[in-house]
Amino acid sequence: MRLIISKKPKFKLTIIDLTNGKYESTIGEALDYVYIINDLKEIISASFFNEDGDEITKKLCEIPIYFVDRLQSNTVVDGVHIPDDEWNEYHCGEFDIDEWLKSKDPSKEGEVCDGGATSKSGKHSNGRIEHHDRLAVYVSDSGDKKEPRQIFIWVDKIVEIAEHDTNNGLNVEDKAKALCSFVILHELSHALMDLGLYSKSYKSNFTYSDYLYRYIEEAYANAIALTCNKGIQGDDKACETLPFIRDFVLSQPEGYRDGWRLYDNGVCLNTDRKIGEFLPEIEQWMYVKFLFDDYVALHLRDFYNNKLNGLNFVKLVKDNPKEVAVKHPYGKWTILDCQKMQFINTADQYDDICTIGKDSDIVAIGKNGPILI
Ligand SMILES: [Zn+2]
Repeated sequence: MRLIISKKPKFKLTIIDLTNGKYESTIGEALDYVYIINDLKEIISASFFNEDGDEITKKLCEIPIYFVDRLQSNTVVDGVHIPDDEWNEYHCGEFDIDEWLKSKDPSKEGEVCDGGATSKSGKHSNGRIEHHDRLAVYVSDSGDKKEPRQIFIWVDKIVEIAEHDTNNGLNVEDKAKALCSFVILHELSHALMDLGLYSKSYKSNFTYSDYLYRYIEEAYANAIALTCNKGIQGDDKACETLPFIRDFVLSQPEGYRDGWRLYDNGVCLNTDRKIGEFLPEIEQWMYVKFLFDDYVALHLRDFYNNKLNGLNFVKLVKDNPKEVAVKHPYGKWTILDCQKMQFINTADQYDDICTIGKDSDIVAIGKNGPILI
């Protein structure tokens, strides 16, 4: 008898329940969740920055995901330092996108507050403190061995949300399990969009503390999680619990909430409405983070004003994800080589830009038809 061994790697998440099963009767065992990576894996099989999808999945599976509760915040359990589940952030006024844009102008450094989003100095008179209560957090790799990539999920809060929801006839256990799967996938999506996972660096002056960064990143993290959230209970239960997850997403702050619209518009799906291997919009977001500069800031301002209605300012040059076309003000396009970080070519007043043929010549579509640039 011959034994046929499948060469296909089996991926399993690393989930550690630091509460010792305290919430198991509602959310189930940590082990129940280890295979939800397989839904997310479909999205990353053709991955960003030409990385191998399996390698990226492997890296995601190495990130420890800790189930904790709020009593364990700021303590060390089994050698793991559990972060704070609550934090305050100083805002120096209502968010103002034009102020934000000014804050990205290096010549005005120090003059303006970061668009009202956050301020380190806290010297603005119309400031306010915003309180955040964390349901989960993705800790990116700081380069410090004591603080590697980690994910923390406050499972007691998940159980409470499921218990307090009265809008439909689902039982608490089904809701808690669906929400727990969703939250794990949301945090893994942050990891997936983390440039550090691809050994790439962020451009300066554009980090998670930036309001606009958060506004866009959270929407995509929710859209990916919604698309992949079959959870641990399968397709039928995912359909049943979807209205509960939708209500949860729509009750979240600005940015997060927009994830529902992105999901509903199939941002993670290909033209056949199946989970796509390629996510052009999210890949564009990755490149925006990678290429961030004054020009990109200007386009993000326009993007914000249109409430995510279009991502025309930056698009991939088809068949060559190393190159990206950025639309400058007044319809001007520039091709950027993402690896060399160099401008390749510039064209004025073209309506669209794409590549044709085997050699991927870059073609701009102008008013009088295609022009090779
Ligand atoms: Zn998030």
